[in-house]
Amino acid sequence: MADAPKISHAVPSVNGRAYPITDHYYDVIVVGAGGAGLRATFGMAAEGLSTACLTKVFPTRSHTVAAQGGISAALGNMGPDDWRWHFYDTIKGADWLGDQDAIEYMCKNAPEAIIELEHYGVPFSRTKEGKIYQRPFGGMTTDYGNGPAAQRTCAAADRTGHAILHTLYTQALRHKAKFFVEYFALDLLMTDDGECRGVLAWNLDDGSLHRFWGQQTILATGGYGRAYFSATSAHTCTGDGGGMALRAGLPLQDMEFVQFHPTGVYGAGCLITEGARGEGGYLVNSKGERFMERYAPSAKDLASRDVVSRSMTMEIREGRGVGPEGDHIFLHLDHLAPEVLHARLPGISETAKVFAGVDVTKAPIPVIPTVHYNMGGIPTNVFCEVVTHKNGNPEAVVPGLMAIGEAGCVSVHGANRLGSNSLLDLVVFGRAAAHRARDIVKPGLKVAKAPESSTQKALARFDGIRYANGANPTSGIRKNMQKIMQTNAAVFRTQETLTEGVKKMAQVYDSFNDVKVSDRGLIFNSDLLETLELDNLRGQSLVTVVSAENRKESRGAHSREDFTERDDTNWMKHTLCWLDDKGKNKIDYRPVHTKTLTSDVEYVAPKKRVY
Ligand SMILES: Cc1cc2nc3c(=O)[nH]c(=O)nc-3n(C[C@H](O)[C@H](O)[C@H](O)COP(=O)(O)OP(=O)(O)OC[C@H]3O[C@@H](n4cnc5c(N)ncnc54)[C@H](O)[C@@H]3O)c2cc1C
Repeated sequence: MADAPKISHAVPSVNGRAYPITDHYYDVIVVGAGGAGLRATFGMAAEGLSTACLTKVFPTRSHTVAAQGGISAALGNMGPDDWRWHFYDTIKGADWLGDQDAIEYMCKNAPEAIIELEHYGVPFSRTKEGKIYQRPFGGMTTDYGNGPAAQRTCAAADRTGHAILHTLYTQALRHKAKFFVEYFALDLLMTDDGECRGVLAWNLDDGSLHRFWGQQTILATGGYGRAYFSATSAHTCTGDGGGMALRAGLPLQDMEFVQFHPTGVYGAGCLITEGARGEGGYLVNSKGERFMERYAPSAKDLASRDVVSRSMTMEIREGRGVGPEGDHIFLHLDHLAPEVLHARLPGISETAKVFAGVDVTKAPIPVIPTVHYNMGGIPTNVFCEVVTHKNGNPEAVVPGLMAIGEAGCVSVHGANRLGSNSLLDLVVFGRAAAHRARDIVKPGLKVAKAPESSTQKALARFDGIRYANGANPTSGIRKNMQKIMQTNAAVFRTQETLTEGVKKMAQVYDSFNDVKVSDRGLIFNSDLLETLELDNLRGQSLVTVVSAENRKESRGAHSREDFTERDDTNWMKHTLCWLDDKGKNKIDYRPVHTKTLTSDVEYVAPKKRVY
């Protein structure tokens, strides 16, 4: 890594209170230490750039650690495979809303990215011949959807994310990236003409404030699953990067597309990996029927997630749910050999025992579709540079800012992500961001600070929330938000539920202006921390329902009962949604990229999506 960073101090004051700030200078600032952030961090450090990585939790506690099922790549270790089939499956899975250049980049680079991970030390499960073990996953097929299911998802038992995250962290340490652990990024520091110069962050441990200045700031802050009442994601998944982007006047893209995973444990919400169905598990209704055979005759239980979640919801609605209230579905694994469960699914066997009281070798697991992934996020080009509308150009690069991982929307997942494509997205685009930084960042060049007004604005928000003394406690507002999202932006949507959702969510958004924070301290103040996270969540929740109300078609995870068909003539375009300080939204669009990067693959034209 390059020279040690220079440090200086400033003492701005807000509302008569002084906030001493330490300034740090690095070539690049990565916010987030999940799979995406760590891959970018060590890649940038390895390129000789001075690299700071800020993270609100210890790196190996990031949500990536919880990823179970695996990471896709057409290695062909366990049957015929081809990255172009993976490309096709991803486009179809995305219901033709994904950018085909980005999808080409991801699928083509996948095999190399996996081999690289293996060489870094990821302990993948093995076949008898010693190759990386690969399991079938939903929507992954052979021969452009004409052949049988592909075995494409590389797995380290059912703890793949854990294995990858720990390996990436050791690589980042090896390359001497500088970590700022338990630093909470508050806001981007932008110039008046919209360039990003760094971030303001709060050190949770000692209460001090810090500005990190760099030529590129990379947002890798993960998803915002916690906008919903029941989600598989960690409590830390509060979409802080998206919140910061909205406050910086940037749009978020395709936020109406929220993935429900078919198999969250009923009541607890925690995940049973799709790998469980990949290993042969299947769903049944109260009549003991394997109902997926009716909805997806060919792929059955391994149809893509939106299809399975909708089918389960239909079964429950039509009175064929299981349990005393007929409100969930059973997942059977009890027909699988105990050795298979032990070797391939040890983690979920334990999860089922702890959270559902079920011994998977003897009884089915009660499951229900649960919020799992955000396809939408901060829009970027294929180099991971954040883009926005400027002077009629819908893809104007925001200088100094990148976004990767679940926080970003490069758009490889379009309207519906295929399982095991997210971990791949993290490592492929984390690496791509590092390559872009190598090409455009000048090592050691001290970036000019953003004007003091940007710090003042961020501090005013921070101080305002710290001393907020309104009528609504944080937990109450958060619960209202989560219930509305769960009810009004659910698996199935109608004009009525969405109009009501927009209205109610706007009220909840406004109720934050009267929030109450009880603890005024700065050291490990979880009350203040959760309130700042809620500020990020409320903006994204509002943008999600607004974008969903606006899109008058069904596509991927966005399923409207009043517009049941996909409408490529009017809606094959990305939604961009802005939110101003007052909570007023603005919507515009960006074209879906139909051009591929090279002639290795051809544009896949939309057709009916059946499994
Ligand atoms: C239970 C579960 C299982 C999954 N299984 C799979 C799977 O098998 N295969 C697959 O492909 N995908 C899977 N996914 C999806 C995938 O794991 C996630 O999309 C992915 O891990 C997100 O990685 P990330 O690096 O973008 O963010 P995260 O891993 O969520 O990390 C976010 C990072 O940002 C930091 N951060 C956030 N806000 C701030 C802030 N304000 N200041 C400082 N730091 C901040 C956090 O500290 C953290 O380090 C699963 C998801 C879940 C929830």
